[in-house]
Amino acid sequence: MPAEPPLSRLDQALRVAAGRLPGPDARHEAEHLLLHVLGRDRAWLFAHGDDALPAESAAAFEDLLARRMVGEPLAYLLGRRGFWTLDLQVSPATLIPRPETERLVELALARLPPDHALRVADLGTGSGAIALAIASERPLAQLVATDISAEALGVAGANAQANGIANVAFRHGSWLAPLAGERFDLIASNPPYIAEDDPHLAQGDLRFEPPSALSSGTDGLDAVRAIVLAAPDHLVPGGWLLLEHGWDQGAPVRALLMARGFIDVATETDLEHRDRVTLGRVTEAQDASR
Ligand code: GLN
Repeated sequence: MPAEPPLSRLDQALRVAAGRLPGPDARHEAEHLLLHVLGRDRAWLFAHGDDALPAESAAAFEDLLARRMVGEPLAYLLGRRGFWTLDLQVSPATLIPRPETERLVELALARLPPDHALRVADLGTGSGAIALAIASERPLAQLVATDISAEALGVAGANAQANGIANVAFRHGSWLAPLAGERFDLIASNPPYIAEDDPHLAQGDLRFEPPSALSSGTDGLDAVRAIVLAAPDHLVPGGWLLLEHGWDQGAPVRALLMARGFIDVATETDLEHRDRVTLGRVTEAQDASR
């Protein structure tokens, strides 16, 4: 019989694991993975560093470490990511919500007075990040979130339930297609916007995320074009469209909005002062297509 490997202490296991993971966040990531395996929080670990790591937890920890070492995103290994004030479930069927997207949420909220029962759509909702963040801040608003991936909608629906958010309806389909005949005060989207041949797609977390959530056509703007074209027929007079995009896409996205008749078109930057969100609204008098 082979000898049982000696049980290591939690603090030792953590130190060894942090030494094996690459990158500046190694210690932090190792801790997240260990706490996930143990089903504990940091405060508990602080007081239990000299506890032994049970054998089955050691095996589960080793499995997660091995997957992290080949690049699997931490958020997928934990199955969770924080966004806005929410704790969201994520899966490889959904994009991992990014801090940049919180900028889009802020800009949307600035256009949504809290005391009105406004209607808001989130196109390509993925984990539900945008729709759920807005819904949580605007309980009187009615949100509709679409996605072409039924699997992503399942995740988004579970996130609504887990966060106690009841004012979001989920619809299956491409961009605005499931919203026939409906108009909104504001439409927001973080669509795929990376060019198909962009080398970043073969790097980091992006390798593991759904390609359909990341890239869209040769210049990355196919989804943006489809949304800009269809959006005016789904906005009330004066209603806003807000689109997240890449740092170098502000000018082309503004041009698309202006060509489609949007007014007050502008691009806003993210925390790192890069172009990130372009927005515009339809005119008050635009009733021709109604
Ligand atoms: N709306 C989701 C998010 O912002 C998904 C976006 C996407 O898949 N492109 O996280």
